[in-house]
Amino acid sequence: MLHSASPTIFVPPERLAETATCPNCSAKVGLWGGVIHLGHYHFDGEVREGLIWTCSDWCFLSWEHPAFMGKC
Ligand SMILES: [Zn+2]
Repeated sequence: MLHSASPTIFVPPERLAETATCPNCSAKVGLWGGVIHLGHYHFDGEVREGLIWTCSDWCFLSWEHPAFMGKC
């Protein structure tokens, strides 16, 4: 199931205007314009989970580890 949240829940108001780089498409977007998902990533050879910011839901789905998207 796809869960997403607005950055305004996690990011202090004074930082929402800062620009971030999407890890999927490399677009530079204001933090306020993206979405936050619970995602999975490799770290030191193991899969971990954490809150991941991307510019859009589409980019999150493209970025997420395939094992968690029913592709493996
Ligand atoms: Zn993106």
